[in-house]
Amino acid sequence: LFVTFEGPEGSGKTTQCRWLHQRLLSLGYDVVLTREPGGTPLGEAVREWLLALANDGMAAETEALLHTAARAEHVASIIRPALARGAIVLCDRYADSTLAYQGGGRGLEESALRSLQVFATRGLWPDLTILLDVPVEVGLARRRESGEELTRFDQEALEFHERVRAWYRRAAEREPERWRVVDGVAPAEEVARQVWETVASHLPR
Ligand code: C5P
Ligand code: MG
Repeated sequence: LFVTFEGPEGSGKTTQCRWLHQRLLSLGYDVVLTREPGGTPLGEAVREWLLALANDGMAAETEALLHTAARAEHVASIIRPALARGAIVLCDRYADSTLAYQGGGRGLEESALRSLQVFATRGLWPDLTILLDVPVEVGLARRRESGEELTRFDQEALEFHERVRAWYRRAAEREPERWRVVDGVAPAEEVARQVWETVASHLPR
């Protein structure tokens, strides 16, 4: 079972992934928690580049290719092997982030980005994608309060984040079999309850 978490800045993906991971571990499941960009030594290095160098600006195409290259490595060395042994994989962002940020947000052609994802992942899409949906201002305010280091993305124009959010909502509407939209403004415990309800119905038995 391959579950991904998506959503804009400050939507609570990392918190929810960690809680879900703990819960599944405590029930005895073989479960792998990972994230993008990151998840492998190469991926974490690319993440550093993206967060540090991006402050000086980077072509949208370069950004898309770096995220996607890191993903290819992640799928090949972590995600596929874990799925092959029957583990549950939880991933904090995946290919949909590239479609949302570099496609929806930066305006790169979606069909080209999709082909690139198919190439990089050899066609691996999640079984379930949870969209933690929050209004842009709410997410950005949370990020500012969290004390996490702010990146270029936090300072990006509001319209950019609005386009990202809009892309996510449209994707969830287009493919309701894979996506589940959870209201990320609700208290974290309530979000966790809804996440659990959805994931529990997908668990192998
Ligand atoms: O998941 P996290 O918020 O830690 O992601 C790191 C940063 O990379 C975020 O600020 C996000 O906006 C950005 N990002 C991006 N394009 C992607 C994935 C993440 O701009 N495809
Ligand atoms: Mg996070």
